[in-house]
Amino acid sequence: MQVFDVIIVGGGPCGLAAGIEATKAGLSHLILEKGSLTESIREYPRRMRFFSTAENIEIGGLPFPISGVKASRDEALQYYRKAAAYYKLNFKLFQEVWEVKKEKDLFTVSTTSGDTYQARKVIMATGYFTHPRWLNIPGENLPHVSHYYDEPFKYSFTNVVLIGASNSAVEAALELYRHDVTITVVHRGEDFRNTVKYWLVPDVKNRVKEGKIKTMFDSCVTQIDERNVTVSNLKTGDETQLPADFVFILTGYIPDADLLRRCGIVLDSESQVPVFDKETFETNIPGLYVCGTVLAGIHTEKVFIENGREHAQSIIDHIMGREVHKVAELIDRI
Ligand SMILES: Cc1cc2nc3c(=O)[nH]c(=O)nc-3n(C[C@H](O)[C@H](O)[C@H](O)COP(=O)(O)OP(=O)(O)OC[C@H]3O[C@@H](n4cnc5c(N)ncnc54)[C@H](O)[C@@H]3O)c2cc1C
Repeated sequence: MQVFDVIIVGGGPCGLAAGIEATKAGLSHLILEKGSLTESIREYPRRMRFFSTAENIEIGGLPFPISGVKASRDEALQYYRKAAAYYKLNFKLFQEVWEVKKEKDLFTVSTTSGDTYQARKVIMATGYFTHPRWLNIPGENLPHVSHYYDEPFKYSFTNVVLIGASNSAVEAALELYRHDVTITVVHRGEDFRNTVKYWLVPDVKNRVKEGKIKTMFDSCVTQIDERNVTVSNLKTGDETQLPADFVFILTGYIPDADLLRRCGIVLDSESQVPVFDKETFETNIPGLYVCGTVLAGIHTEKVFIENGREHAQSIIDHIMGREVHKVAELIDRI
């Protein structure tokens, strides 16, 4: 069996950046990705636009030219695919890693399909988007319920209940309302989250004022069935049945803590932040690194492509025994 210098788990922007840095350093590498290349971005809303300007999500020093300022999902998918091709990255797609085990100085990486691979170093770059925060309520698994908002046209002239009040929820609610969807937003807090992008706030608040987007704050959905959701008011205890042809649960995503633990990485029990060196990104297991949003634990809003793409360089510097590139910002953020 070939022993790679580095195996990278996850083919998102930060995993690809790690592959690029490994290639530049002359290290053999393999990227194992459980879905398609940049699977998370492929699963983003079809018509989303990044909030970052294109140059801030570039990787490998490759320019990301677009006609506007901020890239769309499609433009980002094209860009990262071309970056992977340009650097001739070595990846195997649709290979879900189950665990990583270290014996002496060698790591064995096993996948859910039963394949194994070996490497001297392993970088976990598995992000968070494949793991929604489950509400654990009856009906959450029904086919008309999803933790991922895709596109508006499917839902025109239907009743949609949307759970959540973050950016993703607000963006989806506005897009759905503008496509003739009867939309109700249910959220346990008393208002939309204060982290909602400032330019979305007047738009959503005015649509709520006009009654075009209905809201049920201080409320939570306790049950979903084929036609309705049951909403309970957290202050009064009153229960309401809302008709729902479709339900979106946009309450966020969280890194796969079980996967990290199976690899032997120690996590903080509350924040689920892994133990890692803030300069080198090496975990409690020497030679095993975390890279990108996976290291944010529950604070996924603190690490994104803009700052996560930098981790790769520090990790490869450490592997090469070079002076480590400093990602100062991270130390303050986590
Ligand atoms: C709607 C939306 C808009 C955003 N806009 C911006 C923006 O404008 N600017 C910005 O900087 N950030 C933005 N972000 C955040 C950003 O997209 C993420 O932080 C970024 O994708 C993190 O990159 P990553 O490589 O760490 O993780 P990911 O992109 O999530 O990649 C992780 C990869 O690992 C794979 N994987 C997971 N588990 C396994 C396994 N067991 N085995 C093998 N592979 C596995 C996944 O399939 C995935 O492809 C946005 C996020 C969302 C949801």
